[in-house]
Amino acid sequence: HATKKTMADHLRKYEALFTLTPQRMRMIVEAFKEALELGLEKPSQVVPMIPTFVFGWPTGKETGDFIAVDLGGTNLRVCLVTLQGDGKFEITQSKYRLTEEQKQDDGQKLFDFCAECLRTFIDTNSSEPDGVLTPGEILPLGFTFSYPCTQERIDHGVLIRWTKGFGSPNTEGRDVAAMFNESIEKYQLPVKLTALINDTTGTLIASHYVNPRTKIACIFGTGCNAAYMEHVRDSDKIKSMGITDDVDMAINCEWGAFDSFVHEHLPRTKYDIIVDESSNKPAEQSFEKLISGRYLGEILRLVICELVDEGVLFLGQNTYKIEKPYVIDTAFLSLMESDPTDELLMIIGIFNHFFALETTLAERQFFRALAKLIGRRAARLSACGIAAIVSKMGYLDEGCSVGADGSLYNKYPGFADRIHEGLQDIFGEKGRNIVTHHAEDGSGVGSAIIAAMTKIRK
Ligand code: ADP
Repeated sequence: HATKKTMADHLRKYEALFTLTPQRMRMIVEAFKEALELGLEKPSQVVPMIPTFVFGWPTGKETGDFIAVDLGGTNLRVCLVTLQGDGKFEITQSKYRLTEEQKQDDGQKLFDFCAECLRTFIDTNSSEPDGVLTPGEILPLGFTFSYPCTQERIDHGVLIRWTKGFGSPNTEGRDVAAMFNESIEKYQLPVKLTALINDTTGTLIASHYVNPRTKIACIFGTGCNAAYMEHVRDSDKIKSMGITDDVDMAINCEWGAFDSFVHEHLPRTKYDIIVDESSNKPAEQSFEKLISGRYLGEILRLVICELVDEGVLFLGQNTYKIEKPYVIDTAFLSLMESDPTDELLMIIGIFNHFFALETTLAERQFFRALAKLIGRRAARLSACGIAAIVSKMGYLDEGCSVGADGSLYNKYPGFADRIHEGLQDIFGEKGRNIVTHHAEDGSGVGSAIIAAMTKIRK
C-alpha cells in the first residue's frame, strides 16, 4: 500500500517541469539571437523582424496635438496627446472594452467600432466648456495596431495574421490602414491617419523621449513582443528594400513567434502543448504562449485539472466551474502570489467565489507555489528574449534601459525583479547593467511622437 502523496510531493514534480536553469537560459538566448538575425536577413522567417519605417530616435523637440488610437488585445484606447517638446507631454484618454464577439466579427465592423469610439471621444472633448479640441481642426492620427503587419511606408500596413485571440474575417492579408481610413470617412472624423505603428514601437519611441538610455521596449500584456533600433546596414532584408544603409530603423521583432512550428528550443510542458493545440492558432506564437497574460492562467488551470482527474484535488466537490477553459485569469495568479495572510484568505475567496470550491491550507499553499513557478518561468523566458537583443546589439558593457508596459509587467508582483534576476543568471554580474522600467502611456504617446516625426520628415 503506497503512502499518499502530499501536496508538497506533487509540487516537486511541477518544480522540475517549470524551472529554467541558467544554462538552459543561455542556450535559449543563443537560439533566439540566431532567429533574430535570420529575420533581419531574409523575409518570411519565424521571427519576422518587421521594419517599421520609424527612422531613428526622436529629438525630444517634437511638439503639437495628436490623436492616438490604440487597438490592444483587451481594450481600445483613444488618446489626445499634446507634446510639449522637452521630453514632456500631456494626455487625455478614454478606454473601451472589446467583447469576445467583436474580436471575431467582420474586420470592417471592428474598424467601424474604433471610428465610433473616436467619434464619441472627439464629441466629448470638443464640447464646451472644458473641451480641449478645436472644432474644425484636422488632427494627425497615430494608429497603434498591435498585430504583425508588413509595411512599405509608415501610413500603411498589411496584416500578416491575427494574434492574441483575434480572428476577424476579411482582414488578414489586407491593408488595415486603408480599412480604418474607410471607417474614418464613414464617420466623417476630423483626423488624418499619418502613422500605423505597433505598441512595442510606440513604447520604444515614447520611452526614449522620456529616458534616452532606452534601447529596447517590451510589452507584457495579452501578448508579448519587443522592438529596438537597428542599423539598416546590418539587415540585408531592409537594404534590399532600397533604403540607404546609413540610417537606423526601429524593428518590431514580433518575438512572440520565436520557436513556432519547429518547437526546438523552448521548454514546453504538456500543459503548454494543450494550450497551444486548443488555441485558435495552433503551433504559432510559441514564445508568447509561455509568457503572456492571455495564457498563464490557463496553464495553471490545466495543472489543477490534471490533479482533479487524478483524484488529488477537490474530492467529492463539483468541479464543473473550474473545468471550463480560460476561467482562471492571469490576474488571479497575481492575487494568489500577493496574498499577505498566513491562512491565504485571498485564495480561499477566489476558489469559493469564482469556482464554488473549498480548499485546504496545504492546497492553497500549493496553488500559490504553482502560480510562482508559472510566473517566474514567464519572467525568465522574457529575460532570454531581452538578453538576445542585448547580446546581438552589444549593449551589455555600456548597459541600457528597457521600456516595458502591459498589465503583466505593471501588475504581476515581482515580474520585473524576476526578469532582472534572469538577466543576471544569463550574463552574470554584468546583467545588472540592463534595467527595465515602466513606460507610462507608451503606446499612445509613442504613436503621437511618431506622427510628429513623420510630419517633420515630410
Ligand atoms: P493589452 O495587452 O490587451 O493591451 P493589458 O496590458 O492590460 O492589455 O494586458 C491584459 C492581460 O493582462 C490579460 O491577459 C490579463 O489576463 C492580464 N492581467 C490583467 N490584470 C492582471 C494582473 N493584475 N496581473 C497579471 N495579469 C493581469
